[in-house]
Amino acid sequence: MKKIIAWLEKHNLLNLPSLIIAISFVFFVILIIALLNVNDKDSNNIYVTENAELRTGPSPVYPELNKVHQGQNFNKVSEQGKWIQVESSNGKEKGWIAGWHTNLNIKSDANPNKKPLKKKTIVLDPGHGGSDEGASSNTNKKSKEKTYTLKTAKELKKLLEKKGATVTMTRNSDTYVSLDDRNIKGDAYISIHNDALKSDKANGSTVYWFKQNQQTLAQTLNASLQKKALLTNKGARQQNYQVLRQTDIPAVLIEMGYISNPTDENMIKDRLHRQIVERGIVDGLETYFSG
Ligand SMILES: [Zn+2]
Repeated sequence: MKKIIAWLEKHNLLNLPSLIIAISFVFFVILIIALLNVNDKDSNNIYVTENAELRTGPSPVYPELNKVHQGQNFNKVSEQGKWIQVESSNGKEKGWIAGWHTNLNIKSDANPNKKPLKKKTIVLDPGHGGSDEGASSNTNKKSKEKTYTLKTAKELKKLLEKKGATVTMTRNSDTYVSLDDRNIKGDAYISIHNDALKSDKANGSTVYWFKQNQQTLAQTLNASLQKKALLTNKGARQQNYQVLRQTDIPAVLIEMGYISNPTDENMIKDRLHRQIVERGIVDGLETYFSG
């Protein structure tokens, strides 16, 4: 026994109980800090701070999946802009929620009284032109892509200007403009095209993006088109197109139906149908810029 006490004295460990208390206290403090950090931005636990809804994608244009209530909590799956993809711990609920309905320090997007397109410059790029006629129809109507991309862009320009946007066009008439010369800066860039295939079966609209900063715009516009347009919706897809590759601004290339498909061709030629598509694009842009 004497030997042990001597050993403890030698190693200055006689105060072992107070040493244990001190160590326990440090652990306790660390534990408290860790628990408080659950509310931190980097945390994967998302708490719903007010009643809201889960949607299928990261903006208000996406369809609602179900309501969520204040106090519910979820695991974070991913985030895009101000929207968080969440999943319940049992995996039964999964969807996107606006960050401002959660414990994350994210400010609300929506100010319904604001004109989101005011002071925004939208670049419209009517595909093809002049000697480059683009795709053409298989029917005796012989519709040419270059004609309808320009018509659509001109109609869209008027609608956007009514919303207070400034619109720049890469061409205003039936002239040839190289892809290099179509690289014009603005707040958003929309290249307008029609698809074509040898088979007249293929149909529908597709919104293409290439760079990461173009994806949300593509998804927002596609969701808005899906709501309104009668064309089959082929979704937002990634594709390495030069007009998307060569720009740094949020840009999309929209294939507004197959001119080689007789039904789509009729819709492309129909002013009323074009208007529905154009309103879909305007709505989508308003949603995109409502931040
Ligand atoms: Zn084209």
